[in-house]
Amino acid sequence: MAISIFHTISQCREQIYRWRQAGETIALVPTMGNLHKGHLSLVEKAKQLADRVMVSLFVNPLQFGPEEDFACYPRSEAEDLEQLEAVQIDGVFSPQTAEMYPNVSLPTYVEVTKVSDDLCGQVRPGHFRGVATVVTKLLHIVWPDTVLFGEKDWQQCVVIRQMLTALNFPIKMITFPTVRASDGLALSSRNRYLTQEERGVAPQLYKTLEWMVNQWMEKGECQKNIQLIEQEASIRLQSYGFKRVDYLTVRDKETLVAPMPSCEQLVVLGAAVVGKTRLIDNIFFGVKQK
Ligand code: AMP
Repeated sequence: MAISIFHTISQCREQIYRWRQAGETIALVPTMGNLHKGHLSLVEKAKQLADRVMVSLFVNPLQFGPEEDFACYPRSEAEDLEQLEAVQIDGVFSPQTAEMYPNVSLPTYVEVTKVSDDLCGQVRPGHFRGVATVVTKLLHIVWPDTVLFGEKDWQQCVVIRQMLTALNFPIKMITFPTVRASDGLALSSRNRYLTQEERGVAPQLYKTLEWMVNQWMEKGECQKNIQLIEQEASIRLQSYGFKRVDYLTVRDKETLVAPMPSCEQLVVLGAAVVGKTRLIDNIFFGVKQK
């Protein structure tokens, strides 16, 4: 059966209504398209969790800064639909910008405070406000039982979880592990921007995060050591050919605040630029308290 594609909110809602009438559960996988195996892992998981799976394809202008890559972000709807057809999902919501944001002169935002201003939010002001706003709109349009996000964008997961809790969305959020290339590089639509040489350098972000985890396990109990680990990691990454390091840091996994000595679930997160491409990645790790 051919996949159903909805370009308008009303078409999408009509389908959702029919599924609901039939008593079926719905999972939503929000994406910006240009699908790869990371996206498809979320789709496969969604199929296990609900009767119907809806995937959204929407490059959300609200989450890009004025100097960022909104205009050239890779768009490949025909290929995306082929891939989604092959994995047999039920519907695709692919609106134009004007359908999602008809009133550009009177913008309305959803803002998750504090966590949105740190890490990526510090380098990309307004980014998480754009993400929280579009996810709210997608959830109101599709009204799924379950929504799925990738752990590659871990700060995004923390922001959205806080939003769902604070605004009482009766929707279950599932996160799914990062899918990587065989050399460790996290799959990302932005990897397409990398030249062959930069592609060779890019896995060093993941390798540096791994190095930080090992260092943290050996020496991470004192604040001075933590700073040294972060500084040395940054120097290493630049020596491999990264042009700019936005952050390399260890945080409490669930809140993203600086870890207290009692914290057992940690995440090391990094964001850095190689050539013109900004890459992000993270690794979860646990420490046993002595
Ligand atoms: P994007 O299209 O980049 O906005 O991503 C859509 C969803 O796919 C988000 O929840 C991402 O976190 C997730 N995602 C992107 N890359 C990966 C990956 N390599 N592994 C798992 N999930 C991913």
